[in-house]
Amino acid sequence: MLMIWTQLEMRAAKTTTLCVMTSKFDKELGLDSAITRRDFVYGSTLLVGGALVGCGKSEDATSAAPGDFNFDVGDSWYGPGGVGDYASSHGNTPDLIQTAHQIRAGRFDKVSARAIDSGEEYDLVIVGGGFAGLSAAHHFNRLNPSGRALILDNHPIFGGEAKRNDFEVNGVHISGPQGSNDCAIQAATGDPDDYFSALNIPREFQYKEPGGSAAGMRIAQDNYEYLHWHEDKFDVGHFFRGADKPWVKDVWKSGLATTPWSDEVRQAFARVRTIETEDKAGRDTNRWLDSMTMKSYFENELGLPPEVSSFYDPIMASIIGLGCDAISAYWGLYFQLPGFKNPDRYNDIMLHSFPGGNAGIARHFVKQLIPDAIDGSTFENVIFGKIAFDELDRVGKPVRIRLNSTAVRVEHEGKTQDAERVRITYARDGQLHQLRAKAVVMASGGWVNRHVIRDLPDEYRRAYESFAHSPVLVANVALTNWRFLERLGVSAAIWSGGFGFTCNIRRPMIVGGKSQPLHPDEPIVLTFYAPIYKPGLGRKEQGIAGRAELLGTSFADYERQIREQMMTMFSASGFDPAKDIAGIILNRWGHAYTNPGPGFRFGVNDNPAPPDVIREPFGRIAIGHSELRGHQYWSGAAGEGRRAVEALLDLHF
Ligand SMILES: Cc1cc2nc3c(=O)[nH]c(=O)nc-3n(C[C@H](O)[C@H](O)[C@H](O)COP(=O)(O)OP(=O)(O)OC[C@H]3O[C@@H](n4cnc5c(N)ncnc54)[C@H](O)[C@@H]3O)c2cc1C
Repeated sequence: MLMIWTQLEMRAAKTTTLCVMTSKFDKELGLDSAITRRDFVYGSTLLVGGALVGCGKSEDATSAAPGDFNFDVGDSWYGPGGVGDYASSHGNTPDLIQTAHQIRAGRFDKVSARAIDSGEEYDLVIVGGGFAGLSAAHHFNRLNPSGRALILDNHPIFGGEAKRNDFEVNGVHISGPQGSNDCAIQAATGDPDDYFSALNIPREFQYKEPGGSAAGMRIAQDNYEYLHWHEDKFDVGHFFRGADKPWVKDVWKSGLATTPWSDEVRQAFARVRTIETEDKAGRDTNRWLDSMTMKSYFENELGLPPEVSSFYDPIMASIIGLGCDAISAYWGLYFQLPGFKNPDRYNDIMLHSFPGGNAGIARHFVKQLIPDAIDGSTFENVIFGKIAFDELDRVGKPVRIRLNSTAVRVEHEGKTQDAERVRITYARDGQLHQLRAKAVVMASGGWVNRHVIRDLPDEYRRAYESFAHSPVLVANVALTNWRFLERLGVSAAIWSGGFGFTCNIRRPMIVGGKSQPLHPDEPIVLTFYAPIYKPGLGRKEQGIAGRAELLGTSFADYERQIREQMMTMFSASGFDPAKDIAGIILNRWGHAYTNPGPGFRFGVNDNPAPPDVIREPFGRIAIGHSELRGHQYWSGAAGEGRRAVEALLDLHF
């Protein structure tokens, strides 16, 4: 994902980089590399550090730009990437960050004449190879099979936020999600947005049962369901640091009395779980909720103490980027939080997770678009098959995917309304290239589009002012065993303070008759979804400060924080970081989520909602990205890609 840095972020990042702490407990934490097996399980060879600094070999591209910033995002920052096709692409890559900064610093403002013009011309160019871009290509190909489309993506592998981490631990292959993880099975409607049918994704799945002394343990299939919605279905432990009995299970029923919370807070939690948002005559409930923050709703409308908002802050931040002080109350109802919907009346949903999460769906898109890109045709082949990278960008194919390619300028040739073509300039392998298209789908976020689309109309720029974005760090920790969790009887933990706020292990899906192990003496991936939010700051300022922290913290510092957090929670049940941790991969998503504040969904003062402005095509360009939904999810992203391409087909084909 492309990252545009502000001066504030850069200054803060410089400061944070210098502040890596040293600890005398390195050995105890397993940071002694002779003890850990870090070097063996990490298979990534990094090609980092300003590979694109000489883009275009032009004066404009190489000279120092005002506000330039030489933040070191090299080896010590990126960290290991595991094994397999995803090893060199985990979260935002160093190259991507460098190029993004160059775009923002104006390095590509005057380079068009110096870029190599390949003479290539496509019917459709799609900027972005996440779900929105893959879906745009899918629908273009469906509706216009003779058309030729090219996807440009700035990562070494397709999928956007839907990628995975692979580890080999003691000869066992285990995977975790880099970001996008769970999905519900779509109804078999046969409609164009029934992707399970269109992409041949099966609808019935089986998952491994826990074995050995863990038999009967209740373990979620994904990273979200246990968090709040169906916590009572799983073995979830709430950890209260410093309490006599720090672990509390079944917290909302039998456990509530044993928490260290005050009576007032316990009563508030008990009460909020009985409240539902009331519809009132003459009031549009959704619009009313969208006029205030969740915190305001909880505290001013329901009279709850601030501890309730604080508890739901990280849960909201893990799905929509920021906490209750920033997000509109409409999303509390949308996500059916207590205070909006009584948890006893939740519908029973079943969330699924492929090995490594929704990368499994992204791979099915690519298999359908470019059949030779993944060998074999079974579900197992598509999930685990090696990517034939050479096949992705083959001359003559109706759909091509060009990786490691960052669009730095997108502009109509001539006046927007009369232009016959759009010119795209992109950076690849230290060189600028140019090509043309009859139409372009920008399947990238607003923080990119504002800089890259040169003739973006002012009203779109104004609408983008309403968008804020915040970061999430997803850390996958490969364990040699999870005996310490089994002893606690906990498959997921939730806490406050320290690194992150939750982590869990999952039941692995059985694919082709095989699965990763689920026995406490065998390897597994423990995943931390760690949103970075800063209550008290403004909505945009929280994202800026969060990115500074995310990007300004070295791998070593995060590794230390993770190990310390695990020691704090699990050492009493026998956790030994030196023996139990086999590897850690960090996935840093600087603009993980858009953060819809009040008015984002329905607009204010009778003005259209900002996403509705952005959705209108202008000239031969249409924008389609998951952020336009407010809540970002895989099929919503696919829906935005479809809408964008169908609008262009109506207008120009
Ligand atoms: C931590 C996390 C957890 C999530 N969990 C879930 C989940 O469990 N279930 C779910 O359904 N959804 C989940 N989501 C959300 C969902 O996955 C995303 O909304 C969706 O994958 C986004 O797809 P997209 O195509 O809109 O954008 P992206 O995935 O961001 O794809 C855009 C692509 O365009 C590239 N790009 C940007 N600018 C340029 C440029 N100038 N040139 C070339 N390429 C460019 C980006 O690098 C990226 O590869 C999660 C997201 C995150 C971050």
